[in-house]
Amino acid sequence: MSSWPGIIAYYREHLKVDHRATPITLLEGNTPLIPAPRLAAEIAPGFDLFLKYEGLNPTGSFKDRGMTAAITQAAFEGARATICASTGNTAAAAAAYSSRAGMRCFVLVPEGKVAAGKIAGALAYGAEVIQIKGSFDDALTMVREISEKRPVALVNSLNPYRLEGQKTAAFEICDSLGRAPDWLCLPVGNAGNISAYWMGFCEYHANGKAAARPRMLGAQAAGAAPLVLGHPVENPETVATAIRIGRPARGEQALQAAEESNGRIIAVTDDEILTMWRRLAREGIFVEPASAAGVAGLAKESREGRLNLSGATVVAVVTGHGLKDPDAVIQRAPEMKIIPAEVEALDKLIG
Ligand SMILES: *Cc1c(COP(=O)(O)O)cnc(C)c1O
Repeated sequence: MSSWPGIIAYYREHLKVDHRATPITLLEGNTPLIPAPRLAAEIAPGFDLFLKYEGLNPTGSFKDRGMTAAITQAAFEGARATICASTGNTAAAAAAYSSRAGMRCFVLVPEGKVAAGKIAGALAYGAEVIQIKGSFDDALTMVREISEKRPVALVNSLNPYRLEGQKTAAFEICDSLGRAPDWLCLPVGNAGNISAYWMGFCEYHANGKAAARPRMLGAQAAGAAPLVLGHPVENPETVATAIRIGRPARGEQALQAAEESNGRIIAVTDDEILTMWRRLAREGIFVEPASAAGVAGLAKESREGRLNLSGATVVAVVTGHGLKDPDAVIQRAPEMKIIPAEVEALDKLIG
């Protein structure tokens, strides 16, 4: 069997990345689509649920798909530096792919609001990490402006190549199921990913690679739900830091994807997110809190009688790895027991 070449080489004919560009790749993509029958049965009888485990990408989130495309194109165009605003995962991915391309990378993150594993990644990969006394939305405004003045490539999902790369996850899902799912559930923050998935499903459908298109179910955190409320949120707050965004750059496109697909974007509370986050871990799938929002949204819609899942095939995207946010676990776990290094003590504890 020949080995996986990364998403650009594998899906080249479907991507608008310049065909002369040499891919800057860490062999991202080809992530597993894991059946979750026990969890499905708890949500509703008689449907199939699969989890697209995007935490298994090289830097631990789906952002690698977008970043391989954005950095490949930027390198081809001669860029020497990249910049992005990030809630964390974009920073880690931008840092890794920029370093691999020999470019400098600047990342702006909201001070004190980024999970430890993400900052660690960005620093380790060699990015210049700048904390700002403001929100992700403020950071995005700043990098947009500076990238117009300075020769630095903006690699947020405003960059169209990001969506080109991220749409490959929709292709993988269709290739692996042999069809499009009936529903695709995922968390929504800056709204690039839901837009990219919808683009991918539409293109595969138009090319005759999939007979149908799924309905999209996007989930925002209740404290950061501008697309549900219909207006920007000034001070977004949620435990799901990856989707703590009040002014999504791809908001219009996301709403259009929801509407065209006959789907919707809903809000889930932090409690609902954390409950599903724990439940996923009991399935052996450890994700960061934001990643559980899509599945939490599915469960909520079903519980409240707004979804008929009978006979359906549903894919929920779990977007980032749990190891990115160790504090989320440690703060909520019961205190670990400490015993003397004696077998009697262990025996007493277990018994
Ligand atoms: C970026 C991110 C999201 C949100 O994706 P958007 O494209 O911003 O909507 C969700 N989960 C994780 C883990 C992320 O890193």
